[in-house]
Amino acid sequence: MVLKRQLFIIIIIIIAIITTTVTAQEAKPLIVGGEILEAEYPGNFGISYTEAKSFAQALGLTYWHDDARLIVGLGSIQIRFPISTIPKSRSTLKKIISANPPHALRKDEKVLIPIRYTAKALGCIYSGNENSLRVVLPQAKLLNLSLNVINGRDVISLKFDRNVNVVERAPGHWLLVGARAEEGMKYFSGLYLSDVRILPGPYGAEIFLDGVSGWPEEAAYFPRETRIFVGRKAKKKLPPPLIVIDPGHGGDDYGATYGNLYEKNIVLTIAKEMAELLRSRGYNVLLTRTKDTDISIFERAQQAAKADVFISIHVSGSPLVLAGPSIYTYTGTDNSTPVFTAKARTLIAGGGYRQILKRFAASPSDIEQFVNKIEAELGRIGLSAKRGRTPLYLLERAPGASALFEVGSIYNSNDRARMANSAQLSAYAQALARAIIEFIGVTR
Ligand SMILES: [Zn+2]
Repeated sequence: MVLKRQLFIIIIIIIAIITTTVTAQEAKPLIVGGEILEAEYPGNFGISYTEAKSFAQALGLTYWHDDARLIVGLGSIQIRFPISTIPKSRSTLKKIISANPPHALRKDEKVLIPIRYTAKALGCIYSGNENSLRVVLPQAKLLNLSLNVINGRDVISLKFDRNVNVVERAPGHWLLVGARAEEGMKYFSGLYLSDVRILPGPYGAEIFLDGVSGWPEEAAYFPRETRIFVGRKAKKKLPPPLIVIDPGHGGDDYGATYGNLYEKNIVLTIAKEMAELLRSRGYNVLLTRTKDTDISIFERAQQAAKADVFISIHVSGSPLVLAGPSIYTYTGTDNSTPVFTAKARTLIAGGGYRQILKRFAASPSDIEQFVNKIEAELGRIGLSAKRGRTPLYLLERAPGASALFEVGSIYNSNDRARMANSAQLSAYAQALARAIIEFIGVTR
């Protein structure tokens, strides 16, 4: 009898234990991204929830909320949850946690989100047993990295086998969260960038954008693709100024020569690349020549006369000129000389380019600024430029900011080595294009 009673009590206890585990659904550990969080079951409906912010942090997700909504994101995937306080009515609670999307639940200072739903929407692997739950975001693989100049900005496109978030760690230094990539380097002649280095890291691959320091950077997400934009967004207000680039010489006129290095080719290469970069930014660009042809000084002057910004590109063929680049401005642009302003006034009165001319023609200080920008941009590629004055007819004809740029001296072996190297010619083109963009930005 006594034995029977004990057995009966034991059975009752066992039944009670089974019932509680089935219905009470106590909180259990949630293992996610190397962190241990807590999964709980609001209202015991079998739907597990966890604290949203810690969950987002553990997986490197973007996270945002206000009083009414909570958003977690991975690349271009964004899950938007309406936020509700846990209602007293069980049927209402069941309804909002089974809705699509289910509601996030406010609990004290925290906001909880449904684990399984979130994991599935993000492409995570979700598993669980009686003891714990686990959410794993599979490592992403960087499939392709390409670089382009689009609308005047350098754009790095990173393609992955899943969506990937990126985090800017420092200027020019980005973490590709949870992504795997081989160590490597990509060369690029954009407006701002010269190369991109990739290094594997513990939290994901890291990329370093060389040469972007000081320029704005931003990321944008597309399905399985992240783009990083470098450079200033183009403003579209006034009609774009006309930039005239004059590569010297051409055809039978070789300019300065040394062995098989010809000035006419060097300057054309630089001019064409500059034109491409500036056009991609929306500027009107005119080249006085686009081929290996000789054109008269008169034809060049006609083009120069239309320019808001004019730059003539040459190589020094004088044995007297020291190594390195030189920037020449027109002799008559001294503040004390009225020639330039008189010329500008005449051109403005003559109509045609009125508004732009007012902005670009008038002051010798504009030209000073233009030269300062060229000097600064050359400095960014490690070159220091000499300055000089020249009575060059073309500069006299150009109403806007005008300068003659000499890449270097054909008689200097270092300069020649640069001029024979296509990457270096790109660097000159990038620097000059940036100088023009910066100059126009300041004067406008
Ligand atoms: Zn020349």
